[in-house]
Amino acid sequence: MNRRAFLTTSTAALAGSFFAPTSSHALDLTQAPLPYAPEALEPYIDAMTMGIHFGKHHAGYVTKLGDALKAANISQTDAQALVSDIKSLPDAAQTAIRNNGGGHVNHSWFWKWMAPAGSGPKGPEGKLGEAIQSTFTSIDDFKKVFGEAAGKRFGSGWAWLIVTKDGGLKVTSTPNQDNPLMKGIVDDADLGTPILGIDVWEHAYYLKYQNKRPDYVTAWWNVVNWAEVAKGYEAAKKA
Ligand code: MN
Repeated sequence: MNRRAFLTTSTAALAGSFFAPTSSHALDLTQAPLPYAPEALEPYIDAMTMGIHFGKHHAGYVTKLGDALKAANISQTDAQALVSDIKSLPDAAQTAIRNNGGGHVNHSWFWKWMAPAGSGPKGPEGKLGEAIQSTFTSIDDFKKVFGEAAGKRFGSGWAWLIVTKDGGLKVTSTPNQDNPLMKGIVDDADLGTPILGIDVWEHAYYLKYQNKRPDYVTAWWNVVNWAEVAKGYEAAKKA
């Protein structure tokens, strides 16, 4: 890119971020740096798993997403808008964008939904805490429902806590790299804004936990970034 093109692009980007309504979850097509060191979630999530998961799996989705968009000549740069509306894309591009766009978006969220143990609130507080208790009876009951969704997901996929269209909380699960934004792919009743999710692909836990997915889920609660989840909840309620 020459200097003039760079300046023009930067100015457009600045204008966009200043004037356009932006969501706190706005996400482009690039991989943001991991918000902590790969070993920061030890002993619950091991450094090697994090390194490979971020550096190979997520990076791979980003590369393949870029390739798929280029091949289909698609100019959308908002990754969440892209995966929300896959059915509007050319047929030939849908599968690659569903898998790799979903992979990019899901992992971008997932890294932010985790933080080093002890670095923030130990559980959901404030309005989020109240909403979880009134929806699921207690925080422990919520964890049980969420853990069951993660455990029952056959093969690869995700379990989610979403804010539904009517502002309620719901636990859902999707296969592969699908997510609750995907209109026309996920059941309408399970569409919503994800505010927490866990990756239950074997690549997320196998090196440390092997076949013991429930042990991974139990350990993972220690590294949930409840401050970030609460932020997502507030934003989704306002949207
Ligand atoms: Mn993954």
